[in-house]
Amino acid sequence: HAKQSSGTSVQLFEFGLNEPRLRRQKLALELEVAIEHDHLELHYQPIFDLEGDALESVEALLRWNSLEFGVINPLELIEVAEKHGLAPRLNRWVLLTACRQLQRWHLAGATMLKVNVNISPSIFKGDQLIPTIREALASASLEASALVLEITEDTTLWDTAGSLDTLQELRALGVEIALDDFGTGYSSFSHLRHLPFDKLKLDKSFIDDLASDPRAVSLIRTIIALAESLDMVVTAEGIEVEQQRTLLNELGCHLGQGYLMARPMPVDVMEHLLFGRFSYDHRPV
Ligand code: C2E
Ligand code: MG
Ligand code: MG
Ligand code: MG
Repeated sequence: HAKQSSGTSVQLFEFGLNEPRLRRQKLALELEVAIEHDHLELHYQPIFDLEGDALESVEALLRWNSLEFGVINPLELIEVAEKHGLAPRLNRWVLLTACRQLQRWHLAGATMLKVNVNISPSIFKGDQLIPTIREALASASLEASALVLEITEDTTLWDTAGSLDTLQELRALGVEIALDDFGTGYSSFSHLRHLPFDKLKLDKSFIDDLASDPRAVSLIRTIIALAESLDMVVTAEGIEVEQQRTLLNELGCHLGQGYLMARPMPVDVMEHLLFGRFSYDHRPV
């Protein structure tokens, strides 16, 4: 590219090199405005009791249609927020929005419904999490027990005394804590002994192999037994076919989530599911 040493070609060359960074910078600028003006959206994916098909909770999942770049993958969105110092504001927006939405559903009759909210590791380790949770619960007049936080493992989750303190503080508040994507990160069974998670979410990669691989079945059986002995509820994510759901139910997996049962959906579609044909009686399907 930079075949001549003219200023222009050097500039173009540099522009090309930095394109991903430029995209992120532009996204960050737009994201900051989007958080401020509620241009983000949460979709909700149902989580069912695998035994009785009752709706237990909904997982709030970020959706963003950027004016400049179109639909942004939530993982990229989170990454941009992290890199540009927007993670605390984004997290606050998600918590407030999810809690207020759940309050509306409670008032409309879905009184037992819970909401799961994803928390990135940086937020989990920061000092704003507890105050923001208090604020979100108060602003929606919600019981803490209606909120489940999903935390993805990362290397530092395990080795800081701070993690234990935060978990215990959250426990004291009364919110539930789930370890998300279990089995993909740095989990070691022995860590679970020290950190008081209420729930464990089996990563989709385990579920994918379930119907074809007897070793995956053994592994899941063992994880469920371990979780039970530690008083943790197991949720399977990414259930796509009936065979997986049947197997998981036979193995004693408590909760399940996946395209087979329901995809993440916008608020109006969720309301149709909750209140559409029948009034909400804890079993909408
Ligand atoms: P996650 O927390 O593990 O969420 C589950 C992801 O699996 C979601 O992807 C969901 O749409 C997808 N999924 C659920 N069932 C199925 C299935 O049967 N098949 C397949 N192929 N996929 C399924 P999504 O919505 O793209 O979110 C990706 C990740 O982005 C989430 O993974 C979570 O780590 C992160 N994320 C989303 N919203 C937030 C948020 O508000 N805050 C934070 N910190 N992270 C978020
Ligand atoms: Mg999650
Ligand atoms: Mg997950
Ligand atoms: Mg996952």
